[in-house]
Amino acid sequence: MSTAAPESCHHRLVKTRIIATMGPACKDAETIRQLILEGVDIFRLNFAHGTHEWLDDVLHQIRAISDELKIPVGVLGDLSGPKIRLGRIRGDELMCSEQSTIRFVHSRESDEPHDLTCTYEKLIDDVGLGDRILLADGTVGLVVTGKAEDGQSITCVVAEPGIIRSKQGVNLPGVALSTPCVTQKDEEDLAWALERQVDFIGLSFVRSADDITQLKSMIDRRNPKTLPIVVAKIEKTEAIADLDRILEVTDAVMVARGDLGVEAEISRVPILQKEIIRRCNQERIPVITATQMLDSMTTSDLPTRAEVSDVANAVIDGTDAVMLSGETAIGRHPITCVRMMQKIVHQSEPFVIGRGVEDPHTDESRRANPITEAVSLGATVVANSLDADLIVVATDSGRTALALSGQRGRVPILAVTHRQDIVRRLCLYWGVTSIQSTLVRQSADALLQFVVQWGLDHRVLKSGQKIVVVGHTNWLGDGHDLMMVHVVP
Ligand code: PEP
Repeated sequence: MSTAAPESCHHRLVKTRIIATMGPACKDAETIRQLILEGVDIFRLNFAHGTHEWLDDVLHQIRAISDELKIPVGVLGDLSGPKIRLGRIRGDELMCSEQSTIRFVHSRESDEPHDLTCTYEKLIDDVGLGDRILLADGTVGLVVTGKAEDGQSITCVVAEPGIIRSKQGVNLPGVALSTPCVTQKDEEDLAWALERQVDFIGLSFVRSADDITQLKSMIDRRNPKTLPIVVAKIEKTEAIADLDRILEVTDAVMVARGDLGVEAEISRVPILQKEIIRRCNQERIPVITATQMLDSMTTSDLPTRAEVSDVANAVIDGTDAVMLSGETAIGRHPITCVRMMQKIVHQSEPFVIGRGVEDPHTDESRRANPITEAVSLGATVVANSLDADLIVVATDSGRTALALSGQRGRVPILAVTHRQDIVRRLCLYWGVTSIQSTLVRQSADALLQFVVQWGLDHRVLKSGQKIVVVGHTNWLGDGHDLMMVHVVP
């Protein structure tokens, strides 16, 4: 692989990662190119919107532009899970007045103006008297007051009034749904994603660790060429209750604040976010903070002070990545938005650097072997004390890079791996810039030369600067870990 950078490419050495949701506002090649240059590390393809044909087209563009720029970007395929939506409402909207009565009916369409239908066939069976049904992003609240004897409808009274529209989301907080988390549509989307070696698979409306285990078995059964990172979206109170078990089985987590704010009390969202991030940091599980981060930029070219503070606080909480949704998918200023996100995270990162992780209790399966762990820890200390400019890690599976990332050190990490899929999955790790080279399996000297040349080409290294190199490789025979300090000639 050539290391030469395009003329304009000042390769950034990243810390907090940025995820942008793909949509009509950013799907053209030039916008994708600008978004990558401004700092997007991962594009989210939301299976709730867009046909496979449309997604094929954007996936192809993202990969082609990433190759052309020689900047790796990951792709996250976001499965909808058991997301429930209203059916068509006559006239497309309905005013739900306080204390009025509304019926949910089984049939797909109804001529009665106050009858609602939805995409989840078992809604009427699953809810009980007194259960709440939330509509229109939680702004309209119904309480179930009766069930028809024939089981074909339920009656609800409007507790929180407001206007609802066709196809809006339906949330049933605390109701145990009898559907599996991975739906028929998700299975089809998963097959599409695995065939294309999509790097991350998100699952919406996870309720328990079993949902993640089920998704992982489905992935295994399909025997994909590369295993994606599974991201558990935490947006239901059941998932919060089962968080410890979910963290045992998932590879990554998303704090999906949109639906979380509907399913749980909206006022609890900041505290739940802090707690989820803290637990993920302890377990060394990459965590994404999502939704409405720069929401007003969907239409405005400046965010509110509150939004800027929100992004900064997520960084200070210890998130690995921040995510943009409608802001890039359908917003008026996707590029300005990513530039703003980058500016905020950059200025907030000094507050996490060097802080480490309080009370880490990372599971064995996520740790490198004890020698590699100790050498990685040592490398961070050496890099800090020498005021080095780069830590280089030769990594096979990405685990040593994860160990270094977890230390939240000041010195940027450059991970070199021979596998393209690992290069892309490292796009989620805090503080890790990743590049591909087969030299990682050859001599230490050749790798060092390659890295120094890459650093000079990309203007991230200069003569006289120090780099610390860490590797668990077979350079010196199997099982040896190495740390060395090199001064750029
Ligand atoms: C969310 O609910 O916050 C979320 C990220 O999910 P989606 O955007 O798919 O609704």
